[in-house]
Amino acid sequence: MTDRSDDPQVEPTLIRPAVPPRTASRPVVTPIMPSVVYASDTPDALDAQYEGRAAGYTYAREGHPNADALAARLDALEGVPGGIVTGSGMAAVTAVLMSLCRAGDHVVGGDQLYGRSLRLMREDLPRLGIATTLADPTDVAAIEAALRPETRLVLIEVVSNPTLRIADLDGIAALCRDRGVILAVDNTFTTPAAIRPAEHGADVVIQSVTKLLAGHSDVTLGWVAARAPEHAEAIRTFAVTTGLTPSPFDCWLAERGLLTFDLRFERAQATARRLADHLAGRAGIESVLYPTRDDHPDRGRAQAVLQGQGGHMVTFTLEGGRAAANAFTAAAEGLAFAPTLGDAGTTLSHPASSSHRALSAEERAAIGISEGTFRVSVGLEDPEALFAAIDGGLAAAVEAAG
Ligand SMILES: *Cc1c(COP(=O)(O)O)cnc(C)c1O
Repeated sequence: MTDRSDDPQVEPTLIRPAVPPRTASRPVVTPIMPSVVYASDTPDALDAQYEGRAAGYTYAREGHPNADALAARLDALEGVPGGIVTGSGMAAVTAVLMSLCRAGDHVVGGDQLYGRSLRLMREDLPRLGIATTLADPTDVAAIEAALRPETRLVLIEVVSNPTLRIADLDGIAALCRDRGVILAVDNTFTTPAAIRPAEHGADVVIQSVTKLLAGHSDVTLGWVAARAPEHAEAIRTFAVTTGLTPSPFDCWLAERGLLTFDLRFERAQATARRLADHLAGRAGIESVLYPTRDDHPDRGRAQAVLQGQGGHMVTFTLEGGRAAANAFTAAAEGLAFAPTLGDAGTTLSHPASSSHRALSAEERAAIGISEGTFRVSVGLEDPEALFAAIDGGLAAAVEAAG
């Protein structure tokens, strides 16, 4: 019971201020603070806040306790202080590109970036006078060849979707340092459990918190942090001005999910590694991609850069093309055929009909995607139950292909 005997009395005709009950004890869980506005004592007190002499909030688009509580946890995971939470992963990507670049600048992007990041590169930045070039981040010479005198920023992901190729992060970081170019790394696929890009020289680190970090497919959020204070300030100001900032409830929910991130990552990764071995060489399977397997083109880098953390995703290609793919998803009971990753449950993505549908069949073939290709984001199920569901799909695919 709380003691309410000496609570200040609120005039029944006044709506504000809200007076929370007094308590000598503290909540162990971050409270949700949905307040959009924060009242100050005096104009002098407000000056102190705006001038950075006192900590406090004014208006939720500019910052609120739930965003700060979540950002502090994400900052600690990635090892970069001063990060901000954004309303989505794409809001974080957008804030980076639009706050750090201006018309006349040039940006180099990895050629297998997340689909919407590719769209920003191809459509939106050029429309605003920022030229872009896409290049293969597994090959530092290709990135170097794409650089121009006016190149301001390079944006890469460490592991590509869906072929799980591994970027030459250390090589690209050295190149960017040498040329005075900002290196931004979208670490969504890899997560800070596998790699902390800032420790490899990334200037800016981005996360779609929506995926493995929040981990339950019930919240859309992003996070971004920059090592240079002037970059961090530019990103924060742009996000606040353009309203890319998040809601308190989403932040609260993501913080709850984040508490189990390490455990979920370990479990999903262990099952993914087993699934890759389970599928390799099976009838009906043309190929399996998993970064630490002996037959992966970047296995050396998986050891050197990711320290053997192959991650929670497995990509495989069925024999028999689209007919086999249709039979597989229809028969793989209990596995969501849904274009996301990092959910508690295993999800199947079919790049040819979703993430990579804008490419021609030839363009897809060039990066190793066919109609039979699936990317599995391995979840937390009992591994045997998962393998049984996948085997059910595979049997149907073999029949359809035959
Ligand atoms: C999902 C994803 C994004 C975008 O995140 P949203 O939260 O969906 O906006 C960006 N980059 C990568 C690598 C992603 O997987």
